[in-house]
Amino acid sequence: MTEPYDLETLAIRSGIHRTQFNEHAEALFMTSSYIFDNAQQAADRFQNKEPGYIYSRFTNPTVNAFQERLAVMEGGECAIATASGMSAILTTMMGLLKAGDHVVVSQSIFGAAVQLFTNILARFGIEYTFVPLSDINGWKQAIKSNTRLFYLETPSNPTMELVDIEALSEVSKNANIHLVVDNCFCTPILQRPLLLGADIVIHSATKYIDGQGRVLGGAIVGSKAVLMDGIYSFLRTAGPSLSAFNAWILLKGLETLKLRVEAQSHAALELAKWLSDHPHVARVLHPGLSSHPQYDLAKKQQTHGGAVVSFEVKGGQEKAWKVIDSTQLISITGNLGDTKTTITHPATTTHGRISAEARKLAGISDGLIRVSVGLESLDDIKLDLSRGLD
Ligand SMILES: *Cc1c(COP(=O)(O)O)cnc(C)c1O
Repeated sequence: MTEPYDLETLAIRSGIHRTQFNEHAEALFMTSSYIFDNAQQAADRFQNKEPGYIYSRFTNPTVNAFQERLAVMEGGECAIATASGMSAILTTMMGLLKAGDHVVVSQSIFGAAVQLFTNILARFGIEYTFVPLSDINGWKQAIKSNTRLFYLETPSNPTMELVDIEALSEVSKNANIHLVVDNCFCTPILQRPLLLGADIVIHSATKYIDGQGRVLGGAIVGSKAVLMDGIYSFLRTAGPSLSAFNAWILLKGLETLKLRVEAQSHAALELAKWLSDHPHVARVLHPGLSSHPQYDLAKKQQTHGGAVVSFEVKGGQEKAWKVIDSTQLISITGNLGDTKTTITHPATTTHGRISAEARKLAGISDGLIRVSVGLESLDDIKLDLSRGLD
């Protein structure tokens, strides 16, 4: 679609290539391979002399539809879908880096992403330096002659810290390195990092893009020049590919993304305000609260604070577990972005495998609880949290 359509239109109308049957909804192509008219065509396809489908590890019409739709929504030229958010991060790193390269990484990223840099990529000779997310000067000073990229999430999980993407992209551009932003928490509905100067956007589509807790998926979005070289080659060869079925679920998820993310974000802000007034709550972390230290930045680069609220209860882990265990409605699970409200104790679950020191640096105290607000009645959510809080 070349018209300058609005985001909600693109979410529903882009990426559609109808078959000869003129189906209205997006078709689901459950096929591992494709047939060729003759040997010559097969040879041409394999040698990239003729565009077309070959094998679903790297080409599938349903996966392509999802990729196209997400790319236009993020304001990117193209997207590469992967089996999960983690495989999107892995594929990006394997596509862009080699032994001896160095990356600068925000110290406030998803727990498994920390492990990927410190336990896996490091074994293959990729050096890393962790820096505080919001400290632009810290990023600048961490650059070495072999630095290839910056990697971050904003807002961060679970502490809701932000970085000024535009300001950081000036630093990365000057140093001729890639700025990679995991946009899982915001989705293109709340924030479009590519338009703020980032080179690559990463998604765990498992979260808001599915939004209903059904499938795993991931994506990498950016320009053709950045994506279609090493990153696409890695996917094609190594195969951390998204299944057609999961792509179809995610494609339909994009259609309702704006409605869900906006409604969940509004409820989250209301919940954050309510928690701020609660006597047993020490602090509340949500970018939409005027008490948030980066409230002005959040207003500048996001259209809303998002649907995740983290809060620290007075009484450490014991009280936090009591609040969690007293819920009857809210789901105790590490997942987030679901229509069902979920509750997590990051210090002992999602961030339990990183060292106590790293947790402290990232601001994840033992009393911290993360709630991902869903679409249930806000009154019911408040009542459920009150059981253990009061
Ligand atoms: C969940 C998550 C990931 C990993 O995604 P999976 O789909 O679970 O592999 C990466 N980044 C963030 C911010 C996440 O929340």
